[in-house]
Amino acid sequence: MAVRGGRKEVRRIGIMGGTFDPVHFGHLLAAEESRRALDLSEVIFIPAGDPAHKRQRRVASPEDRYIMTLLAILDNSYFTPSRIEIDRKEPSHTVDTLREMRHWYAPEKVQFYFITGLDAVLGITSWKEHEALPGLCRIVAASRPGYMPEKIKALPREVRDAIIPIEIPLLSISSTDIRQRIEDGKSIKYLLPDRVEQYIYKKKLYRKRSEA
Ligand code: ATP
Ligand code: MG
Repeated sequence: MAVRGGRKEVRRIGIMGGTFDPVHFGHLLAAEESRRALDLSEVIFIPAGDPAHKRQRRVASPEDRYIMTLLAILDNSYFTPSRIEIDRKEPSHTVDTLREMRHWYAPEKVQFYFITGLDAVLGITSWKEHEALPGLCRIVAASRPGYMPEKIKALPREVRDAIIPIEIPLLSISSTDIRQRIEDGKSIKYLLPDRVEQYIYKKKLYRKRSEA
């Protein structure tokens, strides 16, 4: 814990959650811009284990998504990966993860910033125990193409007050689009780190079932 001018400084830690199926430059940019804007000491990347809201489609294995995340963040000394959700048997919910994280860190010495894109934040009322989130973290909402920050005002007061909107360069990149491009045999270059691209090809991820 840093002590500056005799005052105890609270550590500010970012948490970047996602399915990361696969991780791409949109995730990395949202995390890096949040880190700089909010002076975070680190950002912990947490790939979801069994994404509670994505059961209707095939998702790459937790291990593959974890490895891709690890490869993507290798060159940023502020970024660390966590297996907290992929090692859990039950489906992942942000509120459970944050409670577990607070267990590991003394709550009075750390302030968590849960980093999301604006699209995710606008659906926050469907998250498990969303009204408990403001007691556990601040919620960072990074701009994302197609989503209006004004819509935050329509969210219930108890969550709205915990949201910090930040403007980042808009990147029209999504994991859905990357998966579709691979299925269609199109290029994914410059949408995600080279190492992640190489891993996807090496493991033949996201191909049509008949080709995989
Ligand atoms: P999918 O298309 O499968 O939903 P995704 O690209 O939205 O994938 P997720 O793993 O769902 O990626 O996103 C994790 C977090 O990163 C979410 O909070 C999401 O809003 C945010 N995010 C994803 N892509 C971007 C982007 N291009 N710009 C800003 N935030 C993003
Ligand atoms: Mg998404």
